[in-house]
Amino acid sequence: MKIARIRAYQIDLPLVEGRYAWSGGNSVSVFDSTVVAVESDDGRIGWGEICPLGPAYLPAYAAGARAGIAELAPHLLGLDPCALDVLNAAMDGAMRGHPYVKSAIDIACWDLLGQVSGLPVVTLLGGRSGPDVMCYRAISQDTPAKMAARVKHYRREGYRKFQLKVGGDPDVDIDRIRASAAVLSRGDVLVADANTGWTQHAALRVASAVRDVDVYLEQPCPTYEQCLAVRAHTDRPFVLDEVIDGLDMVVRAAGDRAADVINLKISKVGGLTKARQIRDLCVSLGLAMTIEDTWGGDVTTAAIAHLAHSTPARYLFSTTDFNSYVTVAFADGAPRRVGGRMAASSSPGLGVTPKMTLLGAPVIDISRPGGRRTGARA
Ligand code: MG
Repeated sequence: MKIARIRAYQIDLPLVEGRYAWSGGNSVSVFDSTVVAVESDDGRIGWGEICPLGPAYLPAYAAGARAGIAELAPHLLGLDPCALDVLNAAMDGAMRGHPYVKSAIDIACWDLLGQVSGLPVVTLLGGRSGPDVMCYRAISQDTPAKMAARVKHYRREGYRKFQLKVGGDPDVDIDRIRASAAVLSRGDVLVADANTGWTQHAALRVASAVRDVDVYLEQPCPTYEQCLAVRAHTDRPFVLDEVIDGLDMVVRAAGDRAADVINLKISKVGGLTKARQIRDLCVSLGLAMTIEDTWGGDVTTAAIAHLAHSTPARYLFSTTDFNSYVTVAFADGAPRRVGGRMAASSSPGLGVTPKMTLLGAPVIDISRPGGRRTGARA
C-alpha cells in the first residue's frame, strides 16, 4: 500500500460563544482549520486535521500549516502510510521542525492503518480504558462574574472540570479564580491557565493569594525557568503546557519535578505517533496528562478521543471535545459529548467521514512528485 495523493481543505469553524479569549489580549472568533486527506493507491482515504489557535498561541498558524503540507506532500508519495515510524522519519528528513505541519498527515495515516487492519485507532494505541473519558470545559477570559456564570452553565451541562483563562491583570485573575471556585462543588476540578501571561512576580502574587483555593495552576509564565521558579514557591498542583513541545522537555520536566500534570497537544508534538510516545513515557513515569490539541473540529476531536480513551484512566487528567465549541459539524462519526464525557469510535480507523459538500474544493492536491497546488485560499 502506498500514498498516492494528498489533498488539503480549508474550513472555517465559528465559535458557538462568538469569541474565545485568553492571555495577552488574544482572541479568536472563527477558527481557520485544515482537513487533510491522504489517499492510498487502493483508493482508501485517511483523514487528519490541523487547527492552530490563531498565530499568537504557539509557533504555528493556519496558512503556515497549508504551506508546509504543500511543501512536504510530494516527498511522501509512494511511501507506505501504515509504516508510521518510517513515514515520520521521512517527514523529519524532508522538513526540519514544524511539528504542526506534520500532525494532520500523521493522523490521516493512523486512520488508514485502522481502516486496513479493521481496528479503531483507540485499539491500535493500546486499547480502550473504561467506557468513556471526562472532558474539561475551557472558560474564555472575561469578568470574574461572567466566567463564574459560564462555569455554572457548563456544570449544568455535565462538565466537572473547568479551565479558566487567566494570565491577565493578577488582581482580576485572583477574583476570577475565587469567583469560579465559589460555584463549584466537592469533586469538581478547577484549573487556572495563564497561557504564559504572567510575569514571574505576578504569578507568585496570584499563587500566594489563592493558596486556600482548590485550584491547579497552568503555565503561569513564558519560559520553563520562570515556571520552575513559580513552582518552587507554590503548593498548588502545577501544569506545564506551552513549554512541553516534545519528548526532551517531558524528560527534563520529569527530572526537575517541574509539573504534576503536563498538557499533551497532538499537533504541538507532531501527530499521534509522537504524542503516543510521550503518552507512554508519562504513564511509565506516573505523570498525569491533559490530552488534547491546539483546537479543531470533528477530525481533531476524533483523534483526541482515540488517544485519550486509550490512556490509562489514572493518568488521564482530562481531555476535551473541541467540536462542541464550534458551530460547524463537518464529519459523520465524530465523537459527540454526552454530559461532560465522550468516547472514541468503535469503527475502523478514526471512524470519521467528512461531508464533502462542507469541505468544498481542495486548496492543495498533490498526486505526483513536485505536484500541483490548487485553490484560491492557501
Ligand atoms: Mg493550557
